Amino acid sequence: MSSFKQEPHKLLVIPGPIEVADEVLYANAHPSMSHMSADFVPVLGDCIRMTREVLYTTTAQPFIIAGSGTFGWDQVAANLTEPGDSVLLLNSGYFGDNFTECLRAYGAEVDEVRANFGAAADLGEVAKALNAKKYKLLAFTHVDTSTGVLSDAKAIAETVKRVSPDTLVVVDGVCSVGSEEIRFDAWGIDVVLTASQKGLGTPPGLSILVAGQRAIKAYEARTRPVASYYGSWKKWIPVMQAYEKGSAAYFATPPVNLIYAYHASLTQITKGSPSLEERFALHRQASKRVKDAVAALGLKQLPFDSAFAANGMTAVYFPEGIKASDIVPRMLQKDVVIAGGIHKDHKDEYFRIGHMGITVANPERGDIDKIISALKESLAEAFASKKSA
Ligand SMILES: *Cc1c(COP(=O)(O)O)cnc(C)c1O
Repeated sequence: MSSFKQEPHKLLVIPGPIEVADEVLYANAHPSMSHMSADFVPVLGDCIRMTREVLYTTTAQPFIIAGSGTFGWDQVAANLTEPGDSVLLLNSGYFGDNFTECLRAYGAEVDEVRANFGAAADLGEVAKALNAKKYKLLAFTHVDTSTGVLSDAKAIAETVKRVSPDTLVVVDGVCSVGSEEIRFDAWGIDVVLTASQKGLGTPPGLSILVAGQRAIKAYEARTRPVASYYGSWKKWIPVMQAYEKGSAAYFATPPVNLIYAYHASLTQITKGSPSLEERFALHRQASKRVKDAVAALGLKQLPFDSAFAANGMTAVYFPEGIKASDIVPRMLQKDVVIAGGIHKDHKDEYFRIGHMGITVANPERGDIDKIISALKESLAEAFASKKSA
């Protein structure tokens, strides 16, 4: 199988989907299998076990379900809140806005601690909010992909434990799992939700959510039925437990091939070289290289303190007089695909580069060099064309 090589293509370095390893794409091309077959059962079972390893948890319950990252918000809202329940959401950008919108769609009463643009929510304000009112659940975006802001998950969880220990801590890790360290058990996190196509290096299509035993107990203690059919943990817990124990169970057909692909990526992440710890270190190194190069070009980043800048992506303001149409197509001509801005109030002011997965874990690919030199050249060309205009 190792002879399989994907076709030459432009380097995909947006903050997800990302570049996918040949082995992972090849696994996705597995012959079609019955989801109930004895061959497939341990594949999903292993995915459940390896997902725990990525988050350093031994007791939490993973859910691996067809869907995108967004479906994790629905699972949290439907299973962990009832209409009228209070939620505190730490909003550091576009994805915070949307998580709030999803929670409200299920009837949760959401209060927000809104961070300044380019910053994470202030922990003092979070403590004050937790003191002022009882919240069933606190949720935050670990890396807000619209700003590249990294929230301090450990410190937030500590604050909750200190001020309001019964409040569940829910982490949107769609843009952080696999590229930022998350110590689920040690930090006292209750839910991490993510997706296959960002730091986990798999094509899009899987919603991956990990719920700790406190969250499962809170779900079991609810008084009203879950307001979702496809997303109900009542349906999925027996399925996940059966596959992990080695037998098939059916609620809704899993995306069998994608689970083979996820298995191949998780095998590289948890059993391969670099190790998981080394992988996080490589993300920090690659991120520093990109951020240093951006700074050397005289460009400013959105996170205004490197203490809360993500390691799996970089968000950069365009310089004076330059806009997305000056840079993004020039990068594309150099076979590098980057993303524009998406933050509602600032989307035309900046661009985003993803550096996750094999782009950083396999430095021999030279992806980071390619990104930096394409950016340098594109910027020089853009300035030159302005001058001559
Ligand atoms: C990408 C992303 C989502 C949404 O995930 P989809 O797979 O696009 O549904 C949610 N939260 C964060 C932080 C993200 O980066």
